[in-house]
Amino acid sequence: MIKAVRGMKDILPPETARWQWMETVARAVFQRYGYQEIRLPLLERTELFQRSIGASTDIVEKEMYTFLDRRGESLTLRPEATAGVVRAFIENRLDQGAEVKKLYTIGPMFRYERPQKGRYRQFHQINGEALGGEAPEVDAELILLVLDIFQQLGLTDLELLINSLGCPVCRPAYLLELTALLARQVRDLCEDCQRRSASNPLRVFDCKSKVCQELLLQVPTMADHLCDDCVAHDRRVRELLDRYQVSYRQQPRLVRGLDYYTRTAFEVVSTRLGAQDAVAGGGRYNGLIKELGGPDLPAVGFAIGEERLAALLSDQDEAGDRPRLLFVAALGPAALDKSFDLVQGLRRQGCQVDMDFGQRSLKAQMTMANRRGAAFVLILGDQELAAGRGLLKDMASGTQQEVSLTDLAAIRAALGDKGV
Ligand code: AMP
Repeated sequence: MIKAVRGMKDILPPETARWQWMETVARAVFQRYGYQEIRLPLLERTELFQRSIGASTDIVEKEMYTFLDRRGESLTLRPEATAGVVRAFIENRLDQGAEVKKLYTIGPMFRYERPQKGRYRQFHQINGEALGGEAPEVDAELILLVLDIFQQLGLTDLELLINSLGCPVCRPAYLLELTALLARQVRDLCEDCQRRSASNPLRVFDCKSKVCQELLLQVPTMADHLCDDCVAHDRRVRELLDRYQVSYRQQPRLVRGLDYYTRTAFEVVSTRLGAQDAVAGGGRYNGLIKELGGPDLPAVGFAIGEERLAALLSDQDEAGDRPRLLFVAALGPAALDKSFDLVQGLRRQGCQVDMDFGQRSLKAQMTMANRRGAAFVLILGDQELAAGRGLLKDMASGTQQEVSLTDLAAIRAALGDKGV
């Protein structure tokens, strides 16, 4: 037996109904906020990620699916969406016009991480990016959009963490101070952080090791070193969140896994997710478009992890799971032939209808209908056929009624709103 690649899982029905629902809700919210969809290749030149994500990040150092194609060109399966969105934005000249370009994309990402609960090697994200807007209102609008998606899905027990990572004016001085501080204690840091402390010191805040975390409690944070503009930006973002009674926690040790963030950084976390507790993350990345050869435009973006979102929704009853199916149980070849027409006719009227062609017993077909979670079964044997009437059974209440086989509208009416 050939098995799926480690860390890559199949998403099967009925779970897929939940995914469709998540994505439908997200699309509707994006539309309300003026975001348009962009669909991008899964493969990009490796250099794109090296330059954007940062050479000394975990993703680029050890988590990318990189290979040489037949002509020897190095390609990488995208580990995140932002770099591709920015590449497409520059390449297709989407910067024409003064407005903020608001784009979203939904799809798979690939990271060679150690698979565990909530962490996969192929996972899926709902991404939103607002390119070309400097104003703190853009950050606030984007965070409100993310929270709207969660709210529309009925998730109310999430926590928003927010921080500012500074900008090229104030961050370099802080990084120098941090690097010097870490250098003094380097022997007490874990092996990963010893490396990070020189190459990418902000990332030490991401370390899960107890020793490092305790040590870092004594280290000053970026939040204490922000320049006036960063302070004003951060204050305005939070003022707008306050206006909508959004509760959030300022988390001065929140950093993001990618190098390109400036100013606003945020995460949405849930205590129900275990160790991998972030269901969404995002922030501002003002330098990235220019870094990738485009105009000097600011931007802000986010990603929601769909596997984690699905896990949070798994004990919730959503529209996609409500039983709606009408199962037609045909007994005998003549009934089967008539049922085929009936099923096709009802489908064309917008009903969700199915049947089996195996000519099985009524009992076997009822079992089948139950397994499919059918809301109704229409039973059709020779007798019913002769009378031109079938027996419609409501599976929840057990009640039965006769319906005319020629009057599809009447059958639809008998199904009520459960059948649409
Ligand atoms: P990031 O791009 O690392 O900021 O991640 C954004 C979101 O994607 C996270 O908050 C997670 O919900 C999700 N995510 C990131 N990496 C993985 C992974 N390996 N498996 C599943 N979900 C992930």
